[in-house]
Amino acid sequence: MPRKMKIAEDNYRHKGMRQQLVNQLRSAGFSDERVLSAINEVPRHVFLDSSFVEFAYTDQPFAIGAGQTISQPSTVAFQTTLLNVERGMKVLEIGTGSGYQACVLAALGAKVFSIERQRNLYFRTKEILEQLPYRVKTFLGDGYEGLDTYKPFDRVIITAGAPFIPPKLIDQMKPNGIMVIPMDNANGDGQIMLRITKNADGSLSREEFGDFKFVPMLTGTASD
Ligand code: SAH
Repeated sequence: MPRKMKIAEDNYRHKGMRQQLVNQLRSAGFSDERVLSAINEVPRHVFLDSSFVEFAYTDQPFAIGAGQTISQPSTVAFQTTLLNVERGMKVLEIGTGSGYQACVLAALGAKVFSIERQRNLYFRTKEILEQLPYRVKTFLGDGYEGLDTYKPFDRVIITAGAPFIPPKLIDQMKPNGIMVIPMDNANGDGQIMLRITKNADGSLSREEFGDFKFVPMLTGTASD
């Protein structure tokens, strides 16, 4: 059996840096205290390579291998705030990546189901998540398909740039459910953050929340 990679400890220095990051987010205008306290709780450095601990608590995206990135803390705060998660809700995440966003949602009391298409990333992250106390179930698969077995979801969060609103994910949402999705803009140079509400009669409402840059939401699974 190969030896398991052990996650880094969470010491006073890390906790101090995390508190500073939260203060920085608060000064930047983030005001949902539940979201801020979830960010204050989840050790972001354990999701990065140990040589990058210094960067874990700056407001930057970071490479996590397989050409993918861990979203920057302010983007995690932004999407999490829009999602408006309540304790006990079932949340579907597309793009597990490092697993950090999933843990922030779990710290809010959500039951998180997260899909990743990159095989290596899926296994690496699964190993990290097993050593953390958060309720996150991970799946290797294509996010466009969602998780038919575990539907319906109260919330859906997409953490990759999507070319369109995936219809199956809308189908798998409860009435009054909310989806937060960065959708490709018409210029092809980034995404616009959308919040889609599935009304009780099945119709969709759409709100727009500014420009972002995500890695693309691709189809199928991959091994590279
Ligand atoms: N939520 C992540 C950010 C991940 S970046 C975090 O907190 O770290 C986006 C991720 O989406 C990448 O890992 C990418 O491989 C994945 N992805 C892209 N298209 C996908 C798809 N169709 N299904 C599932 N995952 C996908």
